[in-house]
Parts: sequence; C-alpha cells; structure tokens
Amino acid sequence: MATARTPRSGKSVPLTHTWPKVMLEIKTLEVTFVQQKCRLIFDPETKAAVVVDPGGSADELMTTIKELGLAVTGILITHAHIDHCGAVAALAQALSVPVYGPHQDDDKAIEALELQGECLNIPWSGEFQTQFVREGQVLELLPGHPISVLHTPGHSRGSVCYYCPDQKLMLVGDLLVHGGIWTRKQPGMDRAQLMASLTRLKTLPDDTKLLFGHGPDSTLGEEKEQNSYLAQA
Ligand SMILES: [Zn+2]
Ligand SMILES: [Zn+2]
Repeated sequence: MATARTPRSGKSVPLTHTWPKVMLEIKTLEVTFVQQKCRLIFDPETKAAVVVDPGGSADELMTTIKELGLAVTGILITHAHIDHCGAVAALAQALSVPVYGPHQDDDKAIEALELQGECLNIPWSGEFQTQFVREGQVLELLPGHPISVLHTPGHSRGSVCYYCPDQKLMLVGDLLVHGGIWTRKQPGMDRAQLMASLTRLKTLPDDTKLLFGHGPDSTLGEEKEQNSYLAQA
C-alpha cells in the first residue's frame, strides 16, 4: 500500500485512507400558518450550518440556533414567497451572515414580499440584500459539503433547488410536494416550465432525499412511483 510520511510525527499513514463521511443533520421548524418547513442543515461535528427558507419569526429560529450551538454561515432562499423568507432580514441581521438566492428571475416577487405578507397575514421582517444564485453555481458554506444550485422555474420564475451531492440531499422548495404539485394559480407560475424542471429532477439518483417546503419528505424514487406529475414529466 502506498504510504506518506508525516513530517512531525514521522508515522506513516496510508494514502488511500478515506475519512468516514460526516452525515449532515437536519432540524426542521414549521413556520407560519402554512407550516412552511424552514431547515437548519448542519455538520454535527463542526456545527457549521445553513438556514434554508426562514419564514416566520426570526426570534424563534434564533432560539433553536442557539440551543443547537450552530455556527451559521449563510441563509439560502429557494424562492421569493413570503412563507419562505419573511424572517430573512431579521435573521441575517441577528446572525451577520450573507443571504443567497433565489435566482434573479424572482426579483419582482422579492419586491412584492411586503404585499404578499399583507395579503396572507404572514410576518415580514423587512427588505434584505441577497446574492442571487445561478444555474450550476456551487456554494461552499458547509466545509466538505458543497451545495449546487439548479434553476428550476415553474412554481415561480426564480425558483431554485439546492443539491448536496455527497449527502444525496435536495432542497426543492415548492417545486413539488409529496405526491403532487402546487396547483393554485399565482404570479410567476408556469406549468410548462414546471414540467421541464421536473424532467431535470428525474435525472438525479432515485435515492436522492427530497426535502419539500411543505408536507412530508420523500425520495426521488418514491415520487417517481407516487407523483403523477413527475411520472408525466
Ligand atoms: Zn411558494
Ligand atoms: Zn411555500
């Protein structure tokens, strides 16, 4: 076996050694009356964490972040609907971290967040600065666990999915839900685009875990069998 000598200890270590893979942990918090699933994705060893889709109350999210002792490195947004980003401004300020996403095509929806909040009676913590993400971008927010961006329009123009390949984990926002899709008509929704995005999703491995914005989680294989929209795509 090939070996390398470490200069300090003089001990030999095998070059083929692979470190055990760290499984990221997921803490889910249901926020707002539509029970949107805000996710804290974190490395249990380093406590490095990202917050995905923080709707609802920043204070409540901060309580859990502190309880878990997380070192949040960024906030990710899948799309600009108020249930997914009502707490972004307050949370970004409390944590002093950057905000990423969604795709720039949701810029009009971001401008309308306050109005969305008023219409749906969902709290909005104010305007925020974000770095729009683009197709194929890789975010290095969790050391050792790159997060890839897929631009998956349909539910909204700028909807994205965040994919963590080493964990086979996909945060899909509201692109689909377990067994179906969102059918309520809303600005930016486009069925043809949505079906094209679902076609793309199908190219990933069947054991990819799907974390939806609402409702129970699933796997891509399960959805291929049980979700008629995915079957048609
Ligand atoms: Zn939505
Ligand atoms: Zn939603």
